[in-house]
Amino acid sequence: MSEPERLDHFMARANAVYYATRDPFADFTTAPEIAQAFGEVLGAWAAVTWQLLGRPDPVVLAEAGPGRGTLMADALRAIARVAPEFHAALRLHLIETSPRLRAVQAERLAGAIWHDSLETLPDAPLLLLANEFLDALPIRQFVRRGAGWTERFVGPDGFCELPADPPGRDAADGEMVEVCEPALDIASALGARFAARPGAALFLDYGPEHSAPGDSLQALSEGRMVDALVPPGTADLTAHVDFAAIAAAARAKGAAAHGPIPQGIFLARLGLFQRTDRLARDQPPARALALIEAARRLAEPDRMGRLFKALALCHPGCPIPPGFEQ
Ligand code: SAH
Repeated sequence: MSEPERLDHFMARANAVYYATRDPFADFTTAPEIAQAFGEVLGAWAAVTWQLLGRPDPVVLAEAGPGRGTLMADALRAIARVAPEFHAALRLHLIETSPRLRAVQAERLAGAIWHDSLETLPDAPLLLLANEFLDALPIRQFVRRGAGWTERFVGPDGFCELPADPPGRDAADGEMVEVCEPALDIASALGARFAARPGAALFLDYGPEHSAPGDSLQALSEGRMVDALVPPGTADLTAHVDFAAIAAAARAKGAAAHGPIPQGIFLARLGLFQRTDRLARDQPPARALALIEAARRLAEPDRMGRLFKALALCHPGCPIPPGFEQ
C-alpha cells in the first residue's frame, strides 16, 4: 500500500500536471480574459509606480503566472501609449512553469525571458504583477485536535490526518489552519529585495482580509466544483490567499505592504470604468454593453469585487502606490 502524501506535495504534483497538459481556461476564466481594461489599468499602475520609484532604467517588468499572456499584452499596449519612457526602460520577464502556457505566451509577448521561479530574476529594480498566481501554490492544512495538532495527508482512501507540530497560528479545537509555504517564501524574498533596492509587487487574488481558520481548498473542472482528490491533473486546485500572512512576511524583511483592499475599490480608483467608457464609445451598442457588463463583473461586490483583493509590497521609501491611498 502506498504511503500517505502530504497535501501540499499532492497539490503541487496535481497542478503541475494540470497546467502542463490542460487548457486551464476551459475550466475557469480570469479577470484579464474578461476585460481588456483590467490589464490596461494595471499597466498604468506599473507606469505610475515606476515614476514613484524614481524612474529606474533599466527596470524589470515581470509577471508571475501569466496564463495566456493577456494581462501583460494589454498592460504593454497601455504602457506604450501613456508612458513611452517606461516602455523603453522595461525588460520583460515571465515566471511560468508550464511549457504549454510558455508557448502561448511567446506568441503574444515578443522579447520576454522566462523563469521557473522568482529566484532567477535579474538583480535590478523590479515591478512585478501577479493575478491569480498565489492561489495556485500548494498549501498545507493543519487541524487542532485537543491539545495537539494533526496535518492532512492524501491516503489511498482519501484524506487522513497524521500527528503534526503546531502550524504557528492558533485555532479552536477541530478548526483548520492553512499555510502556503511557497507564497510566504516569495513574500520574504520580495521583502528582502525591496528593502535593499527599488521595486514593487502587485498581487491580485481571492481570499479574506484577515487570516481565518477553515478549509478553502477547491477544485474546478469545466467550470464546476469537483472533489479535490480527483486524479491529479484533471482539475485546477486552488486555495484562499492569506494576504495578512504575506504582508507580514514581507514587512518582517523590511519592505512596506499596502492593502489588502477589495479588487472592486482598487480597480475603480485606477479608472477601470473611465477606461471602459472610453472603449465603449466607439463600439456598436451590443458590444458597448458587453464591455460595461465585463467591468462590472470585476468590480461589483457580490461578483468579483469583494472576494478578490489587491495587495502591494514595496520598497519602504516608495510613496503609497496608486489605488492604495487611505
Ligand atoms: N494570471 C493569469 C493565469 C492564472 S492561472 C490570468 O489571470 O489569467 C495560474 C498561472 O500560474 C498559470 O500560468 C500557471 O501555469 C502558473 N503557475 C502555477 N503554479 C506555478 C508555479 N509554481 N510557478 C510558476 N507558475 C505557476
